Amino acid sequence: MDLNFIKTELFELRKEDLYRDFRTVESRQGRIVSVHGRDLLCFCSNNYLDLASDRRIIDAAISAAREYGIGAGASRLISGNMYLHNKLETALADFKRSEKSIVFPTGYMANVGTISALVGPDDTVIIDRLVHASIIDGAKLSGAKMKVYKHCDMESLRDALEHSRTYRRRLIVTDSVFSMDGDLAPLIDIINLARKYDAMTMVDEAHATGVFGATGRGVIEHFGVEDQVDIVMGTLSKAIGCFGGYVCGSKHLIDYIRNRARSFIYTTAIPPAVCAAAMKAIEIIDTEPERRDRLWRNVSYFRLSIDDERYNLMNSSSQIIPILLGDAGLTLHKSRRLYKEGFLVSAIRPPTVPKGQARLRLSLMSSHTEEDIDTLLSVL
Ligand code: PMP
Repeated sequence: MDLNFIKTELFELRKEDLYRDFRTVESRQGRIVSVHGRDLLCFCSNNYLDLASDRRIIDAAISAAREYGIGAGASRLISGNMYLHNKLETALADFKRSEKSIVFPTGYMANVGTISALVGPDDTVIIDRLVHASIIDGAKLSGAKMKVYKHCDMESLRDALEHSRTYRRRLIVTDSVFSMDGDLAPLIDIINLARKYDAMTMVDEAHATGVFGATGRGVIEHFGVEDQVDIVMGTLSKAIGCFGGYVCGSKHLIDYIRNRARSFIYTTAIPPAVCAAAMKAIEIIDTEPERRDRLWRNVSYFRLSIDDERYNLMNSSSQIIPILLGDAGLTLHKSRRLYKEGFLVSAIRPPTVPKGQARLRLSLMSSHTEEDIDTLLSVL
């Protein structure tokens, strides 16, 4: 077959300023990263607590690799389930104050596998318009009827629930911190509606774990609803600084996922060293609340310092701060200018965000200083 369509589509992407390419980080991840031999201040990492290169976590991974090797050799249900997988799952369940947890190779796979296990063609899955792509993909794969409600709009959710009464099961899925807008889902209202309409609730805490709540348990802790959400999903790759995804919930839910989630069953277990690293990170999050405090101080300082009449920061109320520019070309241009000035800031363009809503997406870290923020704002 003629593969010319590939060239044509790539050309179109470039023309519309939507082409994506890599920048290569030559150093460790952290507040400062090296790209093309230059040190840049990084304002676009999900490494919110700056744990990805923490010496203690690296040491935990090294000693686990020495003892248990690198590869798990098989899927969890064949011979890949190792001592450290069990330990990590216990640590995660304790951390999220749930009965049990299960670890997936990535957060993406946790969403895809869990949603497609819980609902099927006789059911409906009801999602916020701005949920993460992995939730949409899980919903599509499930074969359930997908209903999309307006972003954080409870009337629209009620409407979707009202029209879903005839389905066998209803599953509401939302991010708790929206990854591109940085705002929070109204979890209390969602839970109340779910109760009223007999729907299951699933919350993606990818950007919330380690950051929100008095002890970093996430937005479910922040809103005091830890025991009221049926399925809590998260990732080990952001504030926890490692790699992997997980789901927390009741014992029965986790046993069910282990038996039904195809993206769990048919893939190799994560390396034991990653489990050791993630456990160390969870311990640090528990014992060093000052990291979270510093992150929140940075968020407040940024908000106080930026001229919010001049910039549209959308409804963000988290460490993720978008600056809405609209046009993809302009956003790309600004991001490149910032790069020249020594800052790494991502240009987020469609299809990651809706057309006409391109933006710079800043994310703050606990290790940023006020001076870092001042210099970024002066260049902006
Ligand atoms: N959910 C949300 C809200 C995310 O932002 C991401 C990562 N971008 C994921 C899930 C997927 O997590 P992971 O990177 O571990 O696959």
